[in-house]
Amino acid sequence: MTTRVVVVGSANMDLVGLAERLPRPGETVLGDDFVMTAGGKGANQAIAACRAGGATTFLGAIGSDAFGVTLSARLTAAGVDTSHLRTAYGASGVAVIMVDRAGENSILVSPGANQTFLDLGEAERAAVAGADVLLCQQEIPLSTVAAALTAGRAAGTRTILNAAPARDLPAGLLDRVDLLVVNETEARAITGRAEPEVAALLELVPRVVLTLGGAGSRYADRDGRDVRVPAFAVEVADTTAAGDAFTGALAVAWGEGRDLVDAVRWANAAGAACVRRIGASNALPERAEIDALYQG
Ligand code: ADP
Repeated sequence: MTTRVVVVGSANMDLVGLAERLPRPGETVLGDDFVMTAGGKGANQAIAACRAGGATTFLGAIGSDAFGVTLSARLTAAGVDTSHLRTAYGASGVAVIMVDRAGENSILVSPGANQTFLDLGEAERAAVAGADVLLCQQEIPLSTVAAALTAGRAAGTRTILNAAPARDLPAGLLDRVDLLVVNETEARAITGRAEPEVAALLELVPRVVLTLGGAGSRYADRDGRDVRVPAFAVEVADTTAAGDAFTGALAVAWGEGRDLVDAVRWANAAGAACVRRIGASNALPERAEIDALYQG
């Protein structure tokens, strides 16, 4: 069965300039190269879910500028359903990224149209209700995240929140989350504790996946399961978007009815496949590549 995934989140144009070194304040540096890719956690996870084999719809907002046209075209080309995509008058979300030859970066994110996505309309709620899995992140107004989780919960759609980037959450937001995906920094932000305590997270949500970078991940739930799932050993080229590859694949696998420990193992393969390549959305793996790594 093909999993129907709805992703509610951000879309940014990533403008990536590469240079020998990063400019200091007030300085101009001549760069080596420039690339422009679709980005934002929402768009990335929608593309990740699509490549992992999910029938994926993206709910989000682009601007009325040329970047909006490009973003929409790139999502469509990746196979994502953009029929509900909103166009807001003004600028699209943009991330201006500078990378030096040592891989150090400086990033300025201008949220643009993502800021205008303040609630869900009726057709958007219906799309969430018709999905097997809803996937949200925290790069858009949290009022919209809350509305999506509410619509998902009411319809029996499985709800996943990837609580990234870390933000203060309004009371009650996590009540509608079936599965929380966080890295250690985000876990600390939610629990307010120095150690990312899974037990504290399980007081808030029934199931938790903690991603641990090169150490893999950990799955825990209120039924008493607490399992470390090791990473796949690969040669690392660039860890950008590993979390997005992981989360998109996890949504698809869970929607297919796979046991969550197995789904997390498969998502680890997706994250590992992603870090083998340089880049963000362009580095997200196809299902066949995930399967090949997973099967060893
Ligand atoms: P985030 O970027 O959100 O902090 P992580 O860095 O934890 O996310 O990466 C997400 C997942 O990608 C990890 O749980 C792991 O499965 C995989 N991954 C990340 N880095 C590596 C690595 N160096 N080698 C193998 N797998 C990796």
